[in-house]
Amino acid sequence: MNKYYISTAIPYVNGKPHVGHALEYVQTDAMARYQRLLGKDVFFLTGTDENSLKNVQAAEKLGQNVQQFVDEYYKTFYDFKDILNISFDDFIRTTEKRHFIGAQKLWTNFKAEDLEKKKYKGLYCVGCEAFYKEDELENGKCSEHKTEPEIVEEENWFFKLSNYQEKLKELVEKNIIKITPEFRKNEWLAFIDRGLEDFSISRSAERAHNWGVKVPGDENQIMYVWVDALSNYITGLNFGSADESLFSKYWEQKDQKDREVVHVIGKGIGKFHVLYWPAMLISAGLSLPTLEFIHGYLTVEGEKMSKSIGNVVDPKDVVEKYGTDAVRYYLLGAVSSTKDGDFSISRFEDFYTAHLVNGIGNLTSRILTMIEKYNENKIPKVAEDIFETAKFWVDYDIAFAKFDFEEVIKNINSLVSKIDVKISEEKPWAKVKTGENISVLLYQLVEGLRHLALSLVPIIPETAKKILAQLNLEIENNLAEKKNWGLLKEGNEIKKAEILFVRLEKHII
Ligand SMILES: [Zn+2]
Repeated sequence: MNKYYISTAIPYVNGKPHVGHALEYVQTDAMARYQRLLGKDVFFLTGTDENSLKNVQAAEKLGQNVQQFVDEYYKTFYDFKDILNISFDDFIRTTEKRHFIGAQKLWTNFKAEDLEKKKYKGLYCVGCEAFYKEDELENGKCSEHKTEPEIVEEENWFFKLSNYQEKLKELVEKNIIKITPEFRKNEWLAFIDRGLEDFSISRSAERAHNWGVKVPGDENQIMYVWVDALSNYITGLNFGSADESLFSKYWEQKDQKDREVVHVIGKGIGKFHVLYWPAMLISAGLSLPTLEFIHGYLTVEGEKMSKSIGNVVDPKDVVEKYGTDAVRYYLLGAVSSTKDGDFSISRFEDFYTAHLVNGIGNLTSRILTMIEKYNENKIPKVAEDIFETAKFWVDYDIAFAKFDFEEVIKNINSLVSKIDVKISEEKPWAKVKTGENISVLLYQLVEGLRHLALSLVPIIPETAKKILAQLNLEIENNLAEKKNWGLLKEGNEIKKAEILFVRLEKHII
């Protein structure tokens, strides 16, 4: 079975997650579930970056012990598993022993000629945990954090990224590491062409508050947090531990022709994933990721989320009010998967009402009610496809291949309205009154509903499961077969259940 390895980035745990974190988790989860639906052997990794200086500072500010602080906040990310129904296979915390062992093994494997210890003075943004050149700043400030970096001078280990200038260009240009979307690929190619500089990969233990992974053989130095954080993608597969079988199976995939190793990341951390990480892997003699999907950022009601504005949206609150699938549907369908998007409650409620209440929910109930009323709860005789489902599935696969979840959902919503329009045009209730046989139409509608439910499996899995259960079916990871028309069998009984999406009060007319 083909293996598919996919990861989210690992967030700092210096506070509770916001709706921007939810976006990345939901996107990654939708892709993982889609790949499983295709029948692949998927491993989905997520986790938390707990060695960041930001965590140390946040804990110190509150007068808390750093370990207790990260223990408390890591949990709020882990809880996405239930809150957003995230199907990760493992969750790596970078304070775990297996992570320390693996990160140190990676360092030990770097080629000697790629490492150099030297004195360095530079502008350091603690928010980014990165050094910047003057010309990378906007009016002397970090463009991510809008803060002035501090001047840091010390002796550090450096990684000679300049050794990999040509190699990295080739990897990106030839799609050996495919950057999705295409415009991000072009941005990074232009960046590489401007010349790559060596970067510091350690800091003094003192500046790191003695928190983090020690440099092997140089105890006074702590690994630069990005070096240790990036290695989570392999330490989460137990790289460096006594049993490396997961790492061999999902990262190296030596038995597989079309190897797939995918990182889902935000646009702010491209440098670390497109440049640093591949160079480090080559230096250590390990295989490379095959695809990096880069998403945009979320604003809230048109403004950047910030604690000072007080507009940080906790996904937990939104889920409590509207439900997990409503939040998933919005994040995947109402927000561009690659450009910046906005989270707005009024838009959220409109989207929910239009596509989940009036769309999928209402259609499901209409069709099953007709089967119940006009065909004694039974599936009629198989009839031909009038909804061009073969074409629908082609478009579906193309959109997933591009990580274009917005397009996937646009197609799903079109299928819903196509089926709805058919019902309105044919008026089966009127035909029944005149004694006309509507069993052909009924089959077409209910089989159309099965296709709809199947397409929803990666997007809103609980809803998909509920619709399939009403058709007496279960989720099976075999899309190639299940997307054929005519699989609902004549005489099978349906089990109509409660409505899927509750109408919001203010939308009741
Ligand atoms: Zn910054």
